[in-house]
Amino acid sequence: MFKPVVALVGRANVGKSTLFNRLTRSRAALVADFAGLTRDRHYGEGRLGNHAYLVVDTGGFEPIAKEGIMVEMARQTEQAIAEADVVIFLVDARAGINAHDHEIARLLRRAGQRVLLAVNKAEGMKHGSAAAEFYELGLGEPYPISASHGDGVVDLIDNALSFLDDGVAGQESGQEASDWTSEADEKEINGVDVVVEDVAESGTEKDKYHRIKLAIVGRPNVGKSTLINTLIGEERVIAFDLPGTTRDAIEIEFEKDGTAYTLIDTAGLRRRGKVFQAVEKFSVIKTLQAIEACNVVVLMLDAHTEISDQDAHIAGFILETGRALVIAINKWDGLDDHARDRIKRDFERKLRFLSFAKVHTISALKGRGIQPLIKSVKQAHAAAFAKLPTPRLTRVLHAAVEQQPPPRKGIFRPKMRYAHQGGQNPPLIIVHGNALDAIPDSYRRYLETRFRTEFKLEGTPLRIEFKSSQ
Ligand code: GDP
Ligand code: GDP
Repeated sequence: MFKPVVALVGRANVGKSTLFNRLTRSRAALVADFAGLTRDRHYGEGRLGNHAYLVVDTGGFEPIAKEGIMVEMARQTEQAIAEADVVIFLVDARAGINAHDHEIARLLRRAGQRVLLAVNKAEGMKHGSAAAEFYELGLGEPYPISASHGDGVVDLIDNALSFLDDGVAGQESGQEASDWTSEADEKEINGVDVVVEDVAESGTEKDKYHRIKLAIVGRPNVGKSTLINTLIGEERVIAFDLPGTTRDAIEIEFEKDGTAYTLIDTAGLRRRGKVFQAVEKFSVIKTLQAIEACNVVVLMLDAHTEISDQDAHIAGFILETGRALVIAINKWDGLDDHARDRIKRDFERKLRFLSFAKVHTISALKGRGIQPLIKSVKQAHAAAFAKLPTPRLTRVLHAAVEQQPPPRKGIFRPKMRYAHQGGQNPPLIIVHGNALDAIPDSYRRYLETRFRTEFKLEGTPLRIEFKSSQ
């Protein structure tokens, strides 16, 4: 259910972001034409055959960090290392070993993580000579690779993932179940039902299809727990431990106004008395995994603080996964007009690539703006799973082309014949015709707007693919 996580670590300039881009580029390419989307990505999905995994670039690792932001960065990095299923430690074949490499190697040996040592920039070097020096890091056999040319990269990932087969799945399952059983014992005291079940025994297939799988994500202290308590505090709640995952994830099922939801927790929520509380620190990796596992994301921002790079990175990842999205700008209570203007401008500047999503200003604490937010979640879910019949799609396509034909490329005029739906969450529309390879992004966006308007697809990304027949 949760994808394995591969973390890339290494000092500056060894080639982490080059390797990251090589591993994750297929999905990133799907969203590359969004203006304003941060180019500097740190989380992405990689694929090897049928195996999908998450890649985290821990760039910025500073083992000698002293204070402030550096300490926080180092903490996040160490946490990423601790939570990853496998770490790829990159070193530089051309520069050789230096003190930073030794320091990172020491931390990795101490963490007891599964580590693969990749010796990058090894293109054109003799296999043995590139790697030999790096045995002394004490992390096993070095793998010579070239991140920029691609040599050895598939082998490296193959090895990293095969690492996982022996032991990740199911390794720690059961642990969480007992934890929750003890929580459930509180139910008499709380006067609120908490039922702990095994997920395998729950819910019919039909039930699962209609449920809205929801993830509420955002930086620490934006108000996630407060919102969750406002949403479900009074409801009957069922918490599932997810067996067979290394991460201690839980799902919380609740019903609100006749709609069934499954909340995928990102923060280690536990019931304390009548309320849920996050008992763990914020975790980027749990956030990513929850986004992957849900249908609709509520991205929470804090009206009291500026939108940070981390907000933008998480937003970029949501876009990449194609999940439906609703934005909640929280702590709107007690702000003057000046402050409200500031946050709106900040949002327009940094997150305008999320224009498909509805933005709500809310106060989780005071319970303001919650009903409209829920309504948007339902709309976004419906849009993500909308059924788009071929005849209607094709009619919309022809009308759009008639009004504005695609630009000619050389002597060829692209010809669009028909469109059909190729997927849901996000909706994928496949346009068939001739000479479609040259369709510019601006025209793709034009079609997207037409389809979006016609089918009222608010709250979900929409993907359009062109297929040319010869
Ligand atoms: P990071 O700081 O670890 O993220 O490193 P970057 O990915 O930014 O790469 C640092 C420099 O090394 C860039 O100039 C890259 O073009 C270069 N580089 C990355 N991978 C390779 C490689 O496989 N071979 C060579 N020759 N250069 C590489
Ligand atoms: P989390 O770390 O994202 O789960 O954030 P919490 O829900 O624990 O909230 C962090 C802090 O922000 C707490 O002190 C909350 O009381 C406060 N907070 C949450 N929502 C609001 C809100 O709508 N308005 C104000 N003023 N404070 C809020």
